[in-house]
Amino acid sequence: MFNYIIFLAMFLTAFVSAQLCIFLFYKKRRIHLNGLLGVILCVFIYSLFYSFELICPNLTFMKLFTGIEYIGIASIPAFWVIMALEYTNKSRYITKKLYMLLFSLPMVLVALNITNDYHHLFYKSYTVDIADNLYIANLKPGIVYVICVIFVNVCFIVGNSLYLIFYRKENSLYKKRSFKIMLTSFIPWIGYWIYMSRITSIRIDIVPIFMGVFCLIYTYALFKSNIFETATIARHVVFDNISEAILVLDQENKIIDMNNIAEKIFNIKSKLAIGQDVCTEFKEYQEIIKYIYEEKETSFNCEIKIKNKLYYFKGKLTLINNNRGKGKVIVLSDNTEQVLMIKKLEYYGITDVLTGVYNRKYFYKIAKEKIEACSDKKHMSLLMMDIDKFKIINDTYGHPTGDIVLKKVMNICKELLGKKYYIGRYGGEEFLILLDNANSEKALEIGETIRRRIENLEILHDNKCIKITSSFGIFTSVRERDLENMIKFADKALYEAKSLGRNRVSIKMGNS
Ligand code: GH3
Ligand code: MG
Ligand code: MG
Repeated sequence: MFNYIIFLAMFLTAFVSAQLCIFLFYKKRRIHLNGLLGVILCVFIYSLFYSFELICPNLTFMKLFTGIEYIGIASIPAFWVIMALEYTNKSRYITKKLYMLLFSLPMVLVALNITNDYHHLFYKSYTVDIADNLYIANLKPGIVYVICVIFVNVCFIVGNSLYLIFYRKENSLYKKRSFKIMLTSFIPWIGYWIYMSRITSIRIDIVPIFMGVFCLIYTYALFKSNIFETATIARHVVFDNISEAILVLDQENKIIDMNNIAEKIFNIKSKLAIGQDVCTEFKEYQEIIKYIYEEKETSFNCEIKIKNKLYYFKGKLTLINNNRGKGKVIVLSDNTEQVLMIKKLEYYGITDVLTGVYNRKYFYKIAKEKIEACSDKKHMSLLMMDIDKFKIINDTYGHPTGDIVLKKVMNICKELLGKKYYIGRYGGEEFLILLDNANSEKALEIGETIRRRIENLEILHDNKCIKITSSFGIFTSVRERDLENMIKFADKALYEAKSLGRNRVSIKMGNS
């Protein structure tokens, strides 16, 4: 009676696997399912012909059916490896060479099985026992049979190891599905070892039934996880090859996923970070953390140092709130090139390219702001400087040398004044310096210091030493708040310095 139930289950397996084959054949265009389709097709052949074998009273036909069954039996391990490679995103390894490597032995095994009567290498003997009107082959394994067993086991170990490794590496969002698939992959083993170890009294080969159960659950697991509709199988490829860094957090701000780019940017291994609190794992990145605490969708800019180089990122924080869960997704895209370009444009917009001081337009803007912000009691000084007889330098040594002189002179000014005071190029070889909060004594002292440094400057040109001097006009006031007026008076002071013989500092005081 029990034997009949197994026989019926065997026949049912053939029927179900045929249905699955048809179903998958039409679905497989979407994703890689060749391995699974191959396994199911083999299970169909295996179970159908084994059913025939069980009810066949003719020994010759039984042997023939066994031979056909072996097309399935010997090919299942090969398809098993392909199926595992496909699930674990290793389809790139599935080449023609691999197919040849995996299927050459099964072909030999099938040939040797069918021709066993001539060499008895597969089975030393092939007799038949009858139980409940079913014809059960009684076999004495030969050397080729042992090779077949080894091949089956090796392929299954390889396949199952792939599932196991993949499950362990898998990010938590998909871990559950991979766990199910990994467990499912052990079902055929159970049947195989029950049958091989002969721990039960069952004499009929129950492996096809276990294989059938496996095929059903495996297909269901893939199908249920919506794999066909959303091609989630490709998720790893998309997620890890996208140019943006992605960080997925759960409701409690624990990291549940991060892609390869995020690993590189934050120099954190996802294996170690996943499951951890984002605020502790990313404590160096407070600029980002503060947006996470805000608990609202936002876009932001941030700077991150990677290997001692500063990068600029555009960030977007999106809240996930649906029936499947709550959390946050942070996407960071590298914006360094654009930011550096803008900074460069900004720099050229406000700077005099030759000397590196502010250009006239920007100097006016900033000087006006400073003057307006200055309180009534504070002194404000404006210094105008002009290089003496600069035309002669140009005429004697050439314009490029004149340029070098201008650069050197401005380097002296920048070095002496630092960032405290603003220097602007007024035009030609004339410069303006705003001495914020400097009274006449301070302004005179500064003017004198610069004048002396320029006087002592030696510029080598064609082994000749170029010496220059400069004149300064200062206007100091507590009340004057009009830049144009201040420039006018500083210019008058400069004119005075020039007419008194140059290389000197003149000062004019506003009403105070
Ligand atoms: P003074 O002592 O009266 O100021 O005499 P000066 O020769 O310096 O005055 P002038 O205004 O006659 O000549 C200024 C010269 O500065 C004329 C111009 O060729 C030169 N100059 C203006 N801008 C630049 C520049 O960017 N590079 C160079 N090399 N020369 C410049
Ligand atoms: Mg001059
Ligand atoms: Mg001049």
